[in-house]
Amino acid sequence: MILVVGGAGYIGSHVVKELVETEDVVVLDNLSTGHRAAVDSRAIFVKGDLGNVDDVLMVFRSYPIKAVMHFAAYSLVGESVVDPLKYYQNNMASTITLLKVMMRFKVKRFIFSSTAATYGIPDVELIDETSATMPINPYGRSKLMVEQVLADLATSDGLNYVILRYFNAAGAHESSSIGESHDPETHLIPIILQQLLGQREKISIYGADYDTPDGTCIRDYIHVTDLANAHILALKALLTGKKGAEIYNLGNGLGFSVKEVIETCEKVTGVKANVEIADRRAGDPARLVASSDKIFSELGWKAERNLEKIIADSWKWHQKQQY
Ligand code: UDP
Repeated sequence: MILVVGGAGYIGSHVVKELVETEDVVVLDNLSTGHRAAVDSRAIFVKGDLGNVDDVLMVFRSYPIKAVMHFAAYSLVGESVVDPLKYYQNNMASTITLLKVMMRFKVKRFIFSSTAATYGIPDVELIDETSATMPINPYGRSKLMVEQVLADLATSDGLNYVILRYFNAAGAHESSSIGESHDPETHLIPIILQQLLGQREKISIYGADYDTPDGTCIRDYIHVTDLANAHILALKALLTGKKGAEIYNLGNGLGFSVKEVIETCEKVTGVKANVEIADRRAGDPARLVASSDKIFSELGWKAERNLEKIIADSWKWHQKQQY
């Protein structure tokens, strides 16, 4: 049985949908930002809070857990700057509760959702896993702290882990049965598509004076199904004992500026966007683009879906959004 904490969230629910094909799955989620309807019906669902040790103990007492995937976290850079304790409490302290229970039940396999935000403002074009980690916001710091805890637990308790540092997750399941749904929505691609659907008046570009070719921030967008597939491979590597303490970037290796993303959305959908230039958003680095060579050479993973495919799947989902 695989425990997926945060399996009702955007990325977690896409991983669960792939995982149930080969594994028994139990999802623990407090539904604070996730959606019950997003959890595949083949998974067992437990509503509970990671910060509540009794909820976590109950799951480990009830099911024979052999590995844990952990997606339950807050992930908004701007919000983390305004309310850091919310981030340290949930992303850091609650994860410690989970790890304590895992160690008590001798569950030693862990897949952790980390982030490009651990790198801060990189001094390289393509960020690889050896690039310096100097996060510039509390969100990135909360994730990096957990990464350091995992390394310590590998030494002290023989924890086997894979850390996956996501770049910008986007897109939706090809079937449109699940997709991205945040309230409030802050992510670029859903915001653009909502505007194109007439659900919001305009798109604000957060800063057009960055040191990039068109002045807007560059990000590496990766399809959520590609992300999900990386988790399946990482789990296999842990279960077979092939990997024990690894960090992998997950990105496309291609950067797109905010303006380029808007133009691609217009091209894919055939609808013209209403755009304004606004102030910079706190905590945003100018450019974050991944090298994912390491996971390709070690686990054979690479992103297979490009920005057009990400936007096309996302567009299908937003047109008939079900939750
Ligand atoms: N962004 C923007 N307008 C928006 C939302 C996002 O200009 O309404 C920019 C944001 O500043 C960043 C990029 O789009 O440079 C991606 O932001 P998102 O919140 O999607 O992901 P993040 O990079 O923060 O994880």
